[in-house]
Amino acid sequence: MLNIVLFGPPGAGKGTQSERLIEKYGLIHLSTGDMFRMHISNDTELGKQVKQILADGMLVPDSITIDMLEEEVSQHPNAKGFIFDGFPRTVAQAEALDAYLAGKGQQIDMVLQLDVPEETIKERIELRRQSSGRADDDAEKLLKRIDEYFSKTIHVLPYYKDQQKVTTINGVGEIDAISDLLYASIDPHVA
Ligand code: ADP
Repeated sequence: MLNIVLFGPPGAGKGTQSERLIEKYGLIHLSTGDMFRMHISNDTELGKQVKQILADGMLVPDSITIDMLEEEVSQHPNAKGFIFDGFPRTVAQAEALDAYLAGKGQQIDMVLQLDVPEETIKERIELRRQSSGRADDDAEKLLKRIDEYFSKTIHVLPYYKDQQKVTTINGVGEIDAISDLLYASIDPHVA
């Protein structure tokens, strides 16, 4: 098993890099943001519950998020490992994930932090907003999401630093070069 948390602010490149990592290492990509958007577009009960929260750029309550994530993990009993993208976003989520994995005799092996300065994020997100059409990508809501990251999600890092699991990767530069940095961190864990 190889369980990786890919950590970083909105616009850090988690989605792009996740795609490469799942391909190279045969992992399952679990993005809670993608899961919520899927529920919203399918108009499920959960989708109805979280639609406004996403539109406002706020965090979905932990209990809803944790239940959804665990349910999704349980769908892949034979996975070689997972990339958690956009989860955990709070310390409560990190603790729940640790407890859940421990119950299966597993753990988070590494936390790869994509480090991108706030100003760079805002520039990137503005570019993406113009092309993606993602409903939560409007300017004000975007600032809210960045704010949620720097006020809440960032506190997840010390939680994993205490466990000595964090590797910080410079997330500014060529996409390929950043992938190479990620591979160099992961490869020793899959030897
Ligand atoms: P980004 O990283 O670009 O902000 P995501 O796709 O990861 O976007 O998440 C989109 C939205 O989904 C978040 O703004 C939040 O409302 C909700 N969300 C995603 N993951 C979580 C989570 N782990 N806890 C709470 N809310 C979440």
